[in-house]
Amino acid sequence: MAMMTGGEYLASLNDGRRIFADGEEVKDLATHPQFATALDLVAGGYERHHRPGDDARGPYFMIPRSREELKDLLDLLLGWDMVTVTTSQGLLALLTAAARIRPKSEEYARRIEDYFAYCRDNDLRCVQAITDAKGDRMRPPGGQDDPDSYTRIVERRPDGIVVRGAKLHISSAAVSHELVVMPTKKMKPGEEDWAVACAIPVNTPGVKIVNTNYAPRERVADFPVSSRHNMPEGFVILDDVFVPNERVFLAGETEHSATFAHSLGLWERLGGTAHLAEYGDTLVGLAQLVAEANGTERVPHIREKIAEMIIYATLVRAGLEAAIANAEASPEGWYFPSELFTNAAKHYGAAEFSLMVRHLHDIGGGSIVTAPSIADVEHDEVGPFIKKYMAGKDTGDGEYRTRLFHAIRDFTADAYGGWQLVTMIQSGGGLFAQRLVARKHYPMDDAKALALKLAGISKD
Ligand SMILES: Cc1cc2nc3c(=O)[nH]c(=O)nc-3n(C[C@H](O)[C@H](O)[C@H](O)COP(=O)(O)OP(=O)(O)OC[C@H]3O[C@@H](n4cnc5c(N)ncnc54)[C@H](O)[C@@H]3O)c2cc1C
Repeated sequence: MAMMTGGEYLASLNDGRRIFADGEEVKDLATHPQFATALDLVAGGYERHHRPGDDARGPYFMIPRSREELKDLLDLLLGWDMVTVTTSQGLLALLTAAARIRPKSEEYARRIEDYFAYCRDNDLRCVQAITDAKGDRMRPPGGQDDPDSYTRIVERRPDGIVVRGAKLHISSAAVSHELVVMPTKKMKPGEEDWAVACAIPVNTPGVKIVNTNYAPRERVADFPVSSRHNMPEGFVILDDVFVPNERVFLAGETEHSATFAHSLGLWERLGGTAHLAEYGDTLVGLAQLVAEANGTERVPHIREKIAEMIIYATLVRAGLEAAIANAEASPEGWYFPSELFTNAAKHYGAAEFSLMVRHLHDIGGGSIVTAPSIADVEHDEVGPFIKKYMAGKDTGDGEYRTRLFHAIRDFTADAYGGWQLVTMIQSGGGLFAQRLVARKHYPMDDAKALALKLAGISKD
């Protein structure tokens, strides 16, 4: 048991997994163009973190035991690839769930802790498979035309369970080792078969992953962001998959079905807020750079928009810091971020993100979507004209400004930009889920007491 190198990680994916993309089964993940960037990123992460020796363990398996360690973890997370992030978040979510379930089931809590140690000791990468197909959203799992619309237990055996269903939008599933499966929502009495949480290796018989990835595979100079940062999204089919007892963390106890989703939501939204804080600052940087390149940085309405973007970025960061400053300790001594501040900050950051993008588009101008390609900038005949006419204020020839527009388009207005707008709203369970949790943890009695005091009345 030791940490893996990048090469060992790539070799570990050749494990009989069933991966599909572009209408075909992918026989060799390592050479398929859809996965090239993802594999580079993940293998690069393995290589950077690798330390020799049987005792070496990755920093992404850190369990924060103080607010300072929680902050350290978040700072580290911003430098990790998506699979390493989901590994840390998913396993911390499982440990959070273990702490909450322990009073009712010592056995499930022990299995989760053993599983955490197994992933850490073998340097595995995990993804969280929670979102079900869901069929008719207004009907419960048992009321669907197809009972498999929510992942369920179809057979209970002495040595384990058999699960059937599908988990949708699972980021990076094809390039990870383990699927951490959890119920997508609270199940009620009578819905025991759908109250299932477990861990499934990606290469288990019955697992099939259909992938999408809309990142460009050509003209990468015109896509400076998405060509370097993209991961496949997996449509994960669980076609009667056997899970041994040791990997089963919930099998019918409906009262704990929401514990997993809530625990995951907390860690996923904290990570999401950390990224939003960085994106907020990045949007400010892009807006200021393009305003300077256009010569408009002193125009009053542009200054106001950039000031609004600065306030947005700062408030998202403030929410993130408040989530850490108000972190709470579990009985085991692990630190969890504040539910209230995490959910409120994530909601604010996600809901207002598109407005900040609108400001950037307003400030930048039409060249965001019409700037000639870098290949044309380099063309012998038209290149000099493009450089001449794309020049702005103090930008030298126009190539700098052209590249700036490509970065803005790719980050906010193109395939990746569109992906990002939807992802901001839907990731972490969607805005509605964040409102629900924020409301649940808000000190409403304190607020009512303040209101009563203001009104000079008492309810007694
Ligand atoms: C890029 C990306 C990556 C993702 N990665 C992961 C991942 O790694 N793992 C994972 O498990 N999930 C992942 N998700 C899934 C994400 O959590 C879901 O998209 C989100 O929870 C919404 O679910 P849905 O897409 O099925 O939409 P829906 O549930 O259909 O929601 C659409 C809208 O309908 C509303 N709605 C739905 N049902 C009801 C109802 N009964 N009553 C009232 N309103 C309702 C919702 O609030 C929302 O406004 C990812 C999503 C994206 C976009």
